[in-house]
Amino acid sequence: MLAFENPDEALHAPRFFLMRGTVRPNFEVPDRAESLRAGLAQLGIAAATAAPATEEDCAALHSPAYLAFLRDAAAGWAALPGAGEEVVANMHPSPEMLAQGATLPRHPVAQAGWYMADTACPMGPGTWSAVLSAAGCALAAAEEAAQGRTAYALCRPPGHHAYAARAGGHCYVNNSALAAQRLRDRGARRVAVLDIDSHHGNGTQGIFWDRADVLTLSMHGDPSGYYPWFVGHAEERGGGMGTGFNRNLPLAMGTGDEGWLAALEAALEEVRSFRPDALVVALGFDASEHEPLAALRVTADGFARAGGMISRLRLPAAICQEGGYAVDHLGGLLARFLTGWGDGA
Ligand SMILES: [Zn+2]
Repeated sequence: MLAFENPDEALHAPRFFLMRGTVRPNFEVPDRAESLRAGLAQLGIAAATAAPATEEDCAALHSPAYLAFLRDAAAGWAALPGAGEEVVANMHPSPEMLAQGATLPRHPVAQAGWYMADTACPMGPGTWSAVLSAAGCALAAAEEAAQGRTAYALCRPPGHHAYAARAGGHCYVNNSALAAQRLRDRGARRVAVLDIDSHHGNGTQGIFWDRADVLTLSMHGDPSGYYPWFVGHAEERGGGMGTGFNRNLPLAMGTGDEGWLAALEAALEEVRSFRPDALVVALGFDASEHEPLAALRVTADGFARAGGMISRLRLPAAICQEGGYAVDHLGGLLARFLTGWGDGA
């Protein structure tokens, strides 16, 4: 299988992470990519270096003002007296403020609060370059899928929590969504995005909410007890023209292989009925039993079976890396998933 990476991912090494009132080391670290590279090497796959995406590429789905924020935030922040090393939001406009005409000042603190959904997307001086490199990997995989092939994109940072104009949950630009849009732009009439990360792909849902040409499906830990907390419910089916083209499959905490693969089969059935020309897989490994939070308990065998089940759709696919934080296990899980994919094909 073809694979794409870009070493600039390592320029993004976030440190800040706030969990239940405690500041902890951030776990979306460059070692994740090292582990994934080792997984590719195990299969004898040499990843090609993808060109970084341009701001214009990202503007296919993201607002220019938001992209300018991502580009300039770290420098503006560093110039603040007494600023910490990373851009971290500490106040967001509330729904009441927005309803009463809240405005956006140029001040870096206000900009961060406006464009960031939470504190889990800190930005340092190298973040923007890494974000463009991750998006470039997804677009390179999409170009392959547009030619009828399947490719894996080692995207870091991940992207599926990023909205058109909002960062959140370790995500800045939505790599999987950009891959889907690129496939549309290259002639695919319908594209399905299948998100098997353990967290709801809320950004992807938001971006394609009112569109009927991109089917978004996400299977994830029940948001009543898990990030992103407020959305990811089965009742969210899209809006306007997009009504019926978003599907969420929330799973009880602790769900293992059997329940997870049953949800996958239900999602695959929806994909088949949609009859897409191409597929984007938002591939997270944080449903693994080895995850620090262990919301779900999927085994390596489960991921291998998932790879086989998805590949039997016989669709050209851009497989975009999302989450997964059990660094010691990531490479092995990727190897099992891709081996399962090959066995299914
Ligand atoms: Zn996740």
